[in-house]
Formats: sequence, structure tokens, C-alpha cells
Amino acid sequence: MRATVLGAGVAGLACAVELAGRGVTVEVLERGERLGAACCSWYAGGMLAPWCERESAEPLVTALGLESLTWWPGKFPGTVLRGSLVVAHGRDAGELRQFARRTEHYEWLDAERLAALEPDLAGRFSQALYFPEEGHLDPRAALAALAQRLATLGVAIRFGMDAEACQKAIVAAQAAGGTLIDCRGLAARDELPDLRGVKGEMLIVRLPDVSLSRPVRVLHPRVPVYIVPRGDGHYMIGATMIESDQPTRITARSLLELLGAAYALHPAFGEAEIIEIGTGVRPAFPDNLPRVQRIGGTIHVNGLYRHGFLLAPALARHAAEQVLAAGHSSEVMHADSHQRRLA
Ligand SMILES: Cc1cc2nc3c(=O)[nH]c(=O)nc-3n(C[C@H](O)[C@H](O)[C@H](O)COP(=O)(O)OP(=O)(O)OC[C@H]3O[C@@H](n4cnc5c(N)ncnc54)[C@H](O)[C@@H]3O)c2cc1C
Repeated sequence: MRATVLGAGVAGLACAVELAGRGVTVEVLERGERLGAACCSWYAGGMLAPWCERESAEPLVTALGLESLTWWPGKFPGTVLRGSLVVAHGRDAGELRQFARRTEHYEWLDAERLAALEPDLAGRFSQALYFPEEGHLDPRAALAALAQRLATLGVAIRFGMDAEACQKAIVAAQAAGGTLIDCRGLAARDELPDLRGVKGEMLIVRLPDVSLSRPVRVLHPRVPVYIVPRGDGHYMIGATMIESDQPTRITARSLLELLGAAYALHPAFGEAEIIEIGTGVRPAFPDNLPRVQRIGGTIHVNGLYRHGFLLAPALARHAAEQVLAAGHSSEVMHADSHQRRLA
């Protein structure tokens, strides 16, 4: 059995790993010249937060996202499972209570317990929510680990594939009986017209003076921001949510807001060295839920929105099962249902 995966973002690489692990002969075709050169996945925070995301996402995201907490540690040893924290300043305490009402699987922490978990936050917040079962990872290292795993499994990732080269490779693969898995993210709008882009802006800073060992969300009525430790004194600060499909540069307002929130978490962030400013465009369907969808001979895995690393393991498993399923029924795992349903 053969399959060709289009796109080497987190969706494509996870699909390739799941397929190769089931004995399918796989190749990955990527438009960019190297890993991360043209993908949204490169700019992700890397939070694996199925419970926190429930604050704004449907139950399906939590249900599918739970798989990521066992999948990633098996594929990427750098996955960190130390939970995540949510804090709010005194004037925004109502936001924290609202967050608690919309989520579950958390513990309320007082200032003392918060300081025990994150000593550098001692004295800064009187209470916090702690989601002990969540995790995080460095997306770039995780993508590299998947690529390395694919190399070990004998799967080639062919970079720098322009439209013509891709087309030739697809025709050849399909002539050999292969299935096409389309994981092109937002570029798949030519075939999935209801896909839209949601731009996200982020920063990477270096601040060796502060030590945080798990992601911290800082709630604010207008600008909720999170900070994800990347190790070695580096932090990712993210992320805006802007209805736009243009990966244009960060705006001054966004930069101010992201840095302001980090500074409010800990004033030492005022001294942080800015390493990188980046933007990515999240592929999203109108309901902000993912789909694994067969159209003609192609299986589309798309609409991962703000949950690519969280959802890729479950979606990849589902896509691999579809490839292997005899008869190839026109099955769709559509997001508005917790169940698979027939299209
Ligand atoms: C700032 C920010 C923070 C985020 N934080 C998190 C987070 O903490 N946790 C989380 O789970 N998710 C997070 N996300 C969301 C996550 O990054 C996305 O959901 C995910 O990257 C989407 O992955 P994808 O593989 O579908 O698309 P992409 O990563 O965009 O990959 C698509 C790939 O297809 C390639 N391609 C396009 N056209 C072609 C073609 N014709 N031929 C071959 N290849 C092609 C592209 O070059 C690209 O490499 C965040 C996103 C942003 C922007």
C-alpha cells in the first residue's frame, strides 16, 4: 500500500508517521526548501492543553486532544508533561473565575502553592488555576524529531517541490495505486473553499534570569497572552488571533500587547532579549473545528486552527485508518460531531 502526503507541517508529518508505522510506503512532498520554511507549525506555541482549550473550543477538541498527551512523548522525548498554569491580575479576577467555569481538570492554587510550583512567580498572584495533566513541547524540535523518525522508517521528505514537480509526483503515485493525503494547511483553499486564515503573531525572547517550567496563560479581557518555556532561558510569547490570511509582519500594537502582558507576568521580561518576531496563519474552517475528509481520491486533513500540535496525533491516526480501511468509503470525521459520520 502506498500513500503520498502533501505538506510537511505538523499535520503532514504526523500523518506520514502514522502511515509508515502501519507499513504503508509513504513519501512526503513539501513546497518549502526546508522544514518549517513555509508552514504555520513553525510559529506555534506548542502547548498541549486539551483542558485549557475547552475555555473557547468545542468538547471535540478536548476529546481528540487527549491523544496528544501520550502520542507526543512516544515520538518526541522532549515533550514536557508538567501541566500548565492560568493566572490573572487582581482587577481581572473575574476572568479567572470565568475560565474555571468553562473548563475542568484543574486545581485552584493559592499564592503559596503557586510559588511552590513556580518559585519565580512568588508573590505575584494571589491565586491561579493549575491543569496538572497538560503538557508542552518545542514545535520546531518536535517537527525535526518527526522528520528524523520518518528518515529512520525510510520515508523521504522531498523539499522544494514546486506545483509542477508535485503534480508529476502525484500522478506517478496515483498510477501506482497510492492514496493522496492533502495536508497543505491554508494552501488547500483551492480545494477546500471554506478554509480561512487566522493570523497569529508571536515572539521568542531570551531571559535567563527568570525560570518558568510550564506554560503560563495571563488572562485579560482584551489581550489574553501565554508564555511557553523553550528551555535554556528562552520563552515563546503568544499569540494574537487576527482574522487575516496574510502572514504580514507584526503590528506595533500587537508587539506592545504581547510584551506588556509578559512584563505584567514578571517585570524581568522588560529586560528580555528579543530573539525573533514571527507570524503564522492558522488554517481554520468556519466552525474552527478540524476535518479529515475524503474528496474524490484525496484525504484532506485540515482546519487544525489553533490546535495543530494538540490535534495532529488523533487526526493522523484517523487518516491512516481511512487509508487502510478496505473499500475506502466516503467517510468524514467532521468536526461538529464527536462521532465519525458518513458524508
Ligand atoms: C502563533 C501561533 C501559535 C500557535 N500555538 C499553538 C499551540 O500552542 N498548540 C497547538 O496545538 N497549536 C498551535 N498553533 C496552531 C498550529 O500551529 C496550527 O494548527 C498548525 O501549524 C497547522 O498545521 P498544518 O500542518 O495543517 O499546516 P502548516 O503548518 O501550514 O503546514 C502546511 C505545509 O504544507 C506545505 N504546502 C503548501 N502548499 C503545498 C504544495 N502545493 N505542495 C507541497 N507542500 C505544500 C506548506 O509549505 C507547509 O509546510 C499556533 C499557531 C500560531 C500561528
